[in-house]
Amino acid sequence: SDNYDDCKHRFKVVLMGSHGVGKTSLLRRLCRDTFSLTVPETRGLSDQPKRLRVFDKDIVLHLWDTAGTEKYRPINALYIRRTPGAIIAFDVTRKETFNDLGYWLKELFTNSDDPQCILVGNKIDLTEQREVRKEDAEEFARKNKLIYVETSAKDNVCVSQAFERLGEMILEKNMKST
Ligand code: GDP
Ligand code: MG
Repeated sequence: SDNYDDCKHRFKVVLMGSHGVGKTSLLRRLCRDTFSLTVPETRGLSDQPKRLRVFDKDIVLHLWDTAGTEKYRPINALYIRRTPGAIIAFDVTRKETFNDLGYWLKELFTNSDDPQCILVGNKIDLTEQREVRKEDAEEFARKNKLIYVETSAKDNVCVSQAFERLGEMILEKNMKST
C-alpha cells in the first residue's frame, strides 16, 4: 500500500533549512521524480512516506517537509522532537542560507536526542551563480561532524544518494541500540 504498513523499519526524517533552498523540490525529486521552477509555497507541515532499500533491508522514511520562513519557526521545535534523522539544506547560490546553518543545527540538536543528520548543498546546477565554495561547505561539515552531499533537485544529482545515506545512518544506529 502507499503507507507501506508492512514495513518494519520506519523512521521520521525532517527537512530543514531556510526558505527557498529547495526542500520541497528535493522531496518531489525523490518521491515523484519531477522538478518545477514554480513550486507551491509550503504551508505548515506534510508527511510523505518513501521506501528505500538500505543494507538489504526495506526501510520507510517518513519525510516531513517544512516551511523555513520566519513565521513558522516557533512550531519547528514541536515536530523536530525525537526525530531520528534530518536533512539540513542550504542553497549554494545564496550565501545567507549557508550562514543560517548554525540556527538550523541548534534547532535540531537542542530539540532531538542525538539525531543523524546530512548536510545538503543544493542547486549545484547553477554553477555561474555559486556563492558557497564546496571546500567551505566541506570544512563546515567537518567541524560539525556532518556528512556533506551536494545536490541538484533540478538535474537529479545525488538526491536519492543523500536520503539513502541518511537511511543507512539511522538504521545503523537503530540496530546498535536495539
Ligand atoms: P523550499 O522553500 O526550501 O521548499 O524551496 P523550493 O523547493 O520551493 O524551491 C525554491 C525555488 O528553487 C523553486 O523555484 C525551485 O524550482 C528552485 N530549485 C529548487 N531546487 C533547485 C535546483 O536544484 N536547481 C535549481 N536551478 N533550482 C532549484
Ligand atoms: Mg517548501
